Amino acid sequence: MSIKLDSLLIHGGVDGDEKTGAVAVPVYQTSTYKQDGLGKTRGWEYSRTGNPTRDALEKLIAELEQGEYGFAFASGLAAINTVLSLFKTDDKLIVSDNIYGGTFRILENVFKNFGIRYEMVNTADIPSVERAITDDVRAIYVESPANPLLTVTDIKAVSEIAHKHGKLLIVDNTFLTPYLQRPLTLGADIVVHSGTKYLGGHSDTVSGLAAVKDKSIADRLYYLQNAIGGVLAPWDSFLVLRGIKTLGVRMERHVKNAQKIARWLESSGFADRVYYPGLESDPGYEIQNRQADGPGAMISFVLNEKYDYRKFFEKLRLITLAESLGGVESLVCHPASMTHAAISPEIRRKVGILDELIRLSVGIESADDLIQDIEQAVKASEKGAP
Ligand SMILES: *Cc1c(COP(=O)(O)O)cnc(C)c1O
Repeated sequence: MSIKLDSLLIHGGVDGDEKTGAVAVPVYQTSTYKQDGLGKTRGWEYSRTGNPTRDALEKLIAELEQGEYGFAFASGLAAINTVLSLFKTDDKLIVSDNIYGGTFRILENVFKNFGIRYEMVNTADIPSVERAITDDVRAIYVESPANPLLTVTDIKAVSEIAHKHGKLLIVDNTFLTPYLQRPLTLGADIVVHSGTKYLGGHSDTVSGLAAVKDKSIADRLYYLQNAIGGVLAPWDSFLVLRGIKTLGVRMERHVKNAQKIARWLESSGFADRVYYPGLESDPGYEIQNRQADGPGAMISFVLNEKYDYRKFFEKLRLITLAESLGGVESLVCHPASMTHAAISPEIRRKVGILDELIRLSVGIESADDLIQDIEQAVKASEKGAP
């Protein structure tokens, strides 16, 4: 029986426990498994190599992304580290020019030391992607919408360029989740996630996921997952499985709230610029509508210079100043000094990550309460005010 995504969130992957009928997948808190004789396992050997709770999550992410194989890691960066380990010295990557700061850091300060190079390109501009392709390029790495300016890249168009030249396309789908966007169906070869964000959804677990369609890529990733060892623990796998069950209802509310707040911000006069692909004024609006089932719930805005952005953060009462995103509670951050501090000030300015830029992860509280909180904090941060 083929079921819809809303049902798949609840019944996909491994539906409960076959042995006992437990409705929730049990936490198999074990490091190893009894073997019945030399070479006679019951399918499980050692929990880095495989664990039934993690396996349930891996099967689920594969199904949700409409891939064939899923992988769960100890963090989003452990997932990205493992995927980047597909490459070798002298390989080169083309990377979206506004990506998660940690992805930039691992490329710049870890993989570059191993001779794996990268070039940052505005992947929203398709001709510049094609121009950047050279023989040594092995893959294009895209975030869409990208962090923190919510730049939308046409995933299908980039996948066509990638495949025309025999390159892989990797997409970080953290901001939208498979509930809103399924990059493998748009031609991506590998999807990566920070499960810490919307998939877990409750700001209580760090995790990472990957999904692929192709068996040869999956075989290599499985080998690397086991060889590198950054796997997700059984208990954390359980928490992410639990989070995913409510992903549909959460995302609906996240998006509804974000739409309302973005429209209000745009008309408030408090912000010089609002970045949100759900606004008709956003340059990514049309492509976002075409390739995804919603604009997500991340909004960035540039606070008008009449207001002191430092003070703004201090004056918020309901919205929490913190790293991370995608939880039920609204979080706000200052990309220039927090998530994107690993990027040099020159590059930050070049790509538009101004000091006045504020990033909002819209939670599922009452949108009216959130608007009221932002409004009082902006007003209280007016320069020259007492
Ligand atoms: C948080 C994040 C990551 C890194 O994930 P961790 O779970 O923090 O390691 C990667 N990409 C994006 C878009 C993120 O938001």
